[in-house]
Amino acid sequence: RFRNGLEKTRRALNTDIRDLFKDEGRLVDDEFLGELFAKLIRTDMGAGPAEELRDDVAKRYRGRKVGLDEVLESITAQTQAMLQQDAAPLNLPGKPSVILVVGVNGSGKTTSIGKLSHHLTSQGKKIVLGAGDTFRAAAVEQLTIWSERIGCDIVTGKQGADPASVAFQTVDKAIEIGADVAIIDTAGRLQTQSNLMQELDKIRRVVGKKVEDAPHEVLLVLDATAGQNAISQAKGFSDAAGCTGIILAKLDGSARGGVILPIRRQFELPVKFVGLGESIEDIAEFDADSFATALFA
Ligand code: GDP
Repeated sequence: RFRNGLEKTRRALNTDIRDLFKDEGRLVDDEFLGELFAKLIRTDMGAGPAEELRDDVAKRYRGRKVGLDEVLESITAQTQAMLQQDAAPLNLPGKPSVILVVGVNGSGKTTSIGKLSHHLTSQGKKIVLGAGDTFRAAAVEQLTIWSERIGCDIVTGKQGADPASVAFQTVDKAIEIGADVAIIDTAGRLQTQSNLMQELDKIRRVVGKKVEDAPHEVLLVLDATAGQNAISQAKGFSDAAGCTGIILAKLDGSARGGVILPIRRQFELPVKFVGLGESIEDIAEFDADSFATALFA
């Protein structure tokens, strides 16, 4: 599932690391390790993870001559270990389960909701969407188009309507038609963060009154192409919003798929899904082993 989406990163990284080798093997010494580190860093994985990968190669091979395959194998195994997380299936305890989706505008929130809905629909689940970003007419329109594509119900409000009221009606609708999951979009305006938090709190309270323990998931959408700064910003947001998992969108969009390593580190949240393109099928449940293999092998 990950191979195509990670093509750009894999190709860049492979070419980069292959370049280190010229014809046969290379002696693993400080010079080689320094060059390897520089190549790894270019995938946006950050200094910490790149150091760990380099040190692991040093531990295994220092003073010996190695080939490309050995180095790739070592890096892949170590990345698998670094990405390991407890199994994190979506928490969908009952009918309806409620998922809130949060994230900064432009991160890929609407698209991710569409793809996630399709993913769940293809597992036989009945979905209702809630267009809780009532300030952006475009967001409501886009989400409506996704609902038509998927063939699921959507609840929208007038522009500027109270998002909590849309959330309330969405859950109501889900109960009425016996839907399995209500997926509710939320606003993502970072500049008004405290209002946003109040808005999210209200949505939580309202859905919690309708369905026990709701929301059952609060998924944060992160843009894999956005770079370290954006990710650090999102961290504050995620803590305040009580997120339960991450959807890492646009991993296909750059040669920087390594960004998942610092994300796993900074967020202490499981990566539940990754976005690997713009079409409806381009979402996959995250799995450390296949991900690392697709990244390097
Ligand atoms: P929102 O403002 O957060 O709702 O973001 P959108 O869902 O509208 O996405 C912003 C842009 O990113 C759109 O052009 C999407 O098609 C694109 N996009 C979203 N997810 C992905 C992805 O996984 N891969 C790629 N390549 N593009 C994506």
